[in-house]
Amino acid sequence: MRVAETTPAQPYDRAARDRLFAIIDERDAWERRITAAARAAYRAGYVDGRADERIAADRTWAAQPPVPLPAGPALADAEARRWHVCCRRCRLGGHRYGCEDCEDRTRETFGEPHRGDRPAGGRRAA
Ligand SMILES: [Zn+2]
Ligand SMILES: [Zn+2]
Repeated sequence: MRVAETTPAQPYDRAARDRLFAIIDERDAWERRITAAARAAYRAGYVDGRADERIAADRTWAAQPPVPLPAGPALADAEARRWHVCCRRCRLGGHRYGCEDCEDRTRETFGEPHRGDRPAGGRRAA
């Protein structure tokens, strides 16, 4: 029996091509649908997971015993200390309780020169 060395040219089968393209289109649509469903499922799982995480964190936080606030100075004392201007000696060595040269000032008088400060220009006022 004699075998042909080359395959004879087939007539172009348009129907076979259309069937093939239909299968390809159907598989592409299927892949798009599956990918969209997977993304939606991932997003939902992520959101749920984050919500669970937040709820757990809130529970952990709520279970903590209250932290006692440290006893600090009263607000009036803190404000007074804020506008206190130490004398030169106290500035260098730390405020001495009862020092007469230090001044308790207000926001309005804070920027005024201190007693004994050298005036601008370098000459001491006469
Ligand atoms: Zn002082
Ligand atoms: Zn002082």
